Amino acid sequence: MRIRFWGVRGSVPAPGPETNRYGGNTSCVQVTTESGHLIIIDMGTGLMPLGNALLATELGRGQGQATILLSHAHWDHIQGLGFFAPVFIPGNSFTLWGHGKSSSMLEGILEGQMNPNFSPLYTLKNLGATFEVKAVSPGEPFTVGSVKVTGQPNPHGSTTALAFRLDEGDRSFVYASDVGYPDDGPSPEALALYRSATVLLHDTTYTPEHQTRRRNRGFSSYEDAAGAAVAAGARHLVMFHYDQDYSDDDVDCLRDACRAALDRLGGTTIELTPAAEGLELEI
Ligand SMILES: [Zn+2]
Repeated sequence: MRIRFWGVRGSVPAPGPETNRYGGNTSCVQVTTESGHLIIIDMGTGLMPLGNALLATELGRGQGQATILLSHAHWDHIQGLGFFAPVFIPGNSFTLWGHGKSSSMLEGILEGQMNPNFSPLYTLKNLGATFEVKAVSPGEPFTVGSVKVTGQPNPHGSTTALAFRLDEGDRSFVYASDVGYPDDGPSPEALALYRSATVLLHDTTYTPEHQTRRRNRGFSSYEDAAGAAVAAGARHLVMFHYDQDYSDDDVDCLRDACRAALDRLGGTTIELTPAAEGLELEI
């Protein structure tokens, strides 16, 4: 699997000179499988530059297809859809797997974003490409090419967000953004999903100090992420979904503090990488 980050910021885009190094776009991760399939995780504003880059592929000629995994439908995970160039090209086809009690309910939520009060696009049916929406059954895997995908809901404030595990051969990539654990930490189901991940991408929105002041928003601190990585025996922790008010220098401090937390909690062998726009990982 090749993993590339197009948006790593949480809650709202934060462009500007103070966020140039890590980037200001909201959540969007591209995974290219060994079998050549394209999987896009979340549709934050990072989806726009990803879409523009994909115009050079068969998606630019109306002959492409991709799978989109949607953790939940908060703005910073869906706002890129209306600016994703390949979705306007007839002939392309997209299958979106996301969170919802049913496929039609999830489609209704995404239709709401296209309402003329919010968007000139009016309806998903104006997208041009085929756009199929499917609800994920928690814990029930489905396949995309050579990858087995499993979704599992985590608590996220007053709602939930899906974490995804992508298994290909003996390698695994887990995407666990937007998660606010209860005081006793990740559920057994969440830890099972994260177990021995080659790469665990985890929400590190806050410092523990900021988290206590904003806890009801349902995000993790770097301490939560380090604890989850150690408890699950992950091999590599990727930090993600930084608070919109954090500058690049603040994220550097977050990284150093997360390293110290991993070491203190017994995770000295766990590699640590702060996600940044343009960064690629090969696993
Ligand atoms: Zn978010």
